[in-house]
Amino acid sequence: MEEERGKETQILTIPFRGQGHINPMLQLSKLLASKRLKVTLVTTISTPLTTQGSAETTSIKIEAISDGFDAGVTLQNYDEYIERFRVVFPQSLAKLVEKLAYSASPVKFIVYDLHIPWMLDVARGFGLDGAPFFTRCSAVNAVYYHVHHGALEFPVKGSVVSLPSMPPLGFDHLPSFISEPGSYPSFLNSISNQFSNIHEPKWTLCNTFLELEDEVVNSMASECPIKTIGPTIPSIYLDKRLQNDNGYGLSLFKPKTETCKTWLDSKEINSVVYVSSGSLATLGEEQMVEMAWGLKRSNFFFLWVVRESEFEKLPKNFLEETSEKGLVVSWSPQLEVLAHKSVRCFLTHCGWNSKLEALSLGVPMVAMPQWTDQTTNAKFIEDV
Ligand code: UDP
Repeated sequence: MEEERGKETQILTIPFRGQGHINPMLQLSKLLASKRLKVTLVTTISTPLTTQGSAETTSIKIEAISDGFDAGVTLQNYDEYIERFRVVFPQSLAKLVEKLAYSASPVKFIVYDLHIPWMLDVARGFGLDGAPFFTRCSAVNAVYYHVHHGALEFPVKGSVVSLPSMPPLGFDHLPSFISEPGSYPSFLNSISNQFSNIHEPKWTLCNTFLELEDEVVNSMASECPIKTIGPTIPSIYLDKRLQNDNGYGLSLFKPKTETCKTWLDSKEINSVVYVSSGSLATLGEEQMVEMAWGLKRSNFFFLWVVRESEFEKLPKNFLEETSEKGLVVSWSPQLEVLAHKSVRCFLTHCGWNSKLEALSLGVPMVAMPQWTDQTTNAKFIEDV
């Protein structure tokens, strides 16, 4: 996009709430900014973000606007949230677009998260254009796409599903919103909507790369104009394209950076199992206890991320009994951990970002999927 009459082009990037959505959108924003575009990443006041590390984040502007839930959101009021978000967020966005219209960099384009497909109409209402950013893998996009268009009968029958350009998927490898539709009806509905206008935008951006998923990307490309722009990992860990890009830069949780670093530095090369379930997944109490004793009895040191909300599920005395062997933290600087020479493998919930990070840094994974796309990601980690 060219500069017009002394004005610079401004792009708004709009992630959905959640660390796994914010991180890739941040990286895309930094890349756009490196092409001499003005970029504002628009979050919501209800998303409690703190700035962490990356100097490159200063190349973009962060703007928090109202979604009607300024006091905070919980998974319990998710349905109510989605309804209100859809009404209030566009109103707040209109004010921002209006304000920028009189600045040196009026908004020309909106990149929005896959969970907000109606943003295309909102953008058009402002006289702008837009493109969706699919932050999960293309194989999972394809499964949902086939369900939406009826090529995959829903509810799914049979134990194995065959879809174009993909290995046969066992029932348990389907995303949990498909294999267990009753448990998350509103999520399933929202996912189906993601494909309601998929043929309209000029581009569909995907956080994947051709070498990883060429067959499925090429087969989906005949349905919509896919541009693969991943993996969206901070540059220092990948191609060093952006000089100061040494971390994502925004976090919902405060990482225990020094604690993790000092502890890992004290361990031998390849001696530590890193364990994390990401920002949302919760282990059942029994699963948590099994994990705890499994780690205790293993022959490895372990660094285990247990979010504060999960802490009470740890067995009594576990921390005391394993203090020689393990470190439990509420949040880690995950990329720094994965890049550390002491880390031998990653026991992961298979969130797409975690998977891309492990692949990019060459850390072997042990898959422990919990829900949503993690089950499909696990299948591909194991077999593909
Ligand atoms: N992450 C982190 N510290 C942690 C756990 C996770 O920085 O202790 C980051 C991780 O690097 C990844 C993101 O949080 O970029 C989680 O995204 P993912 O898609 O893996 O899982 P989600 O949280 O969406 O389930």
